[in-house]
Amino acid sequence: MLNNLELIRRAKKTALSGKILDRESITSLLKIHPNSEEAEKLGEAAREVASVVCKNKAYLWAAIGLDYRACPMNCNYCSLGEKWGIVKEESEFSEDETIRMVKKYVHEGVRWIVLRTTQFYNLDKLIHLAGKIKEVVPGEYELGANVGEFDEKVAAKMANSGLEFIYHTLRLREGIDTKFNPSDRLATLETVKNSSLKLVSLVEPIGVEHTNEEIADAFLIAMRYKAAVTGGMARVPVKGTPLGEFPALSKERLAQIVAVTRLAAGFSAPDICVHQASELAIQWGANVAVVETGAIPRDMCCSSKEAWRGFDPDTAKQWFRSSGYQVFAKGE
Ligand code: SF4
Repeated sequence: MLNNLELIRRAKKTALSGKILDRESITSLLKIHPNSEEAEKLGEAAREVASVVCKNKAYLWAAIGLDYRACPMNCNYCSLGEKWGIVKEESEFSEDETIRMVKKYVHEGVRWIVLRTTQFYNLDKLIHLAGKIKEVVPGEYELGANVGEFDEKVAAKMANSGLEFIYHTLRLREGIDTKFNPSDRLATLETVKNSSLKLVSLVEPIGVEHTNEEIADAFLIAMRYKAAVTGGMARVPVKGTPLGEFPALSKERLAQIVAVTRLAAGFSAPDICVHQASELAIQWGANVAVVETGAIPRDMCCSSKEAWRGFDPDTAKQWFRSSGYQVFAKGE
């Protein structure tokens, strides 16, 4: 049996040879204690792989939560779940407000801008909005959507409107902590895979309750559906939701998970995202960070035009630069 340092060395070699790491190696890397010296070696190896795979190019991602609305799907971690009674006064960004925000993000050098909605947002409306944005906001950015389920016909309309990517995922404990039938989520992933839209899919929302095997399986599903960007997003405990009492992951554990996705994805997903970002996760191989505005499923509060928790593009850029990355608005 390999010891952890040998395992890390082998994972790095596998990543650089262009292969996706096997499930057993992924779970073994996830077993390393996140506060250990071995975890630091794991982080260093992931950073070295990032320097080859993404060539030290970092990118910003901005999510705009369009509708602050109670959602009948009631996911156990989401503040927007109708049953939890957190959403009191519903609101929605207007077309003009959204366009202004997209312009601001483009000006700030954000590469990926995603329009995020609750599950049953009208997709014709979203497609119309995407077309309008692409018409009036020029620049080096890619526009995406994070919405409910849809089929090939809708995917084709999305691509025609100018949308370039979709954020979608089979979330951890889908069907247990959510009311979704996992096969419905997989069907949407299949639709995206078979369309011209790119898929972005993170392992999420990761909490202390998830096993290494669950995390490995979620990552491998993202790879199976050809995610161009993957990585890890932590569950934020929101008081009043059923999972609100479970503590959040430590910064070190999230950074470790992100480092493992970097090593495990290799060249298959050259861009690795962390949410919420930390300087440690960036030092351990993440080259994509997320800024958020609008309705946030991770917060008790309302829809705001300010950067969520003050994490704005300038802070993200500064963190990337101090870890040896250069920030680009355009993929090459
Ligand atoms: S995570 Fe999405 S589907 Fe689930 S309750 Fe929140 S908005 Fe609805």
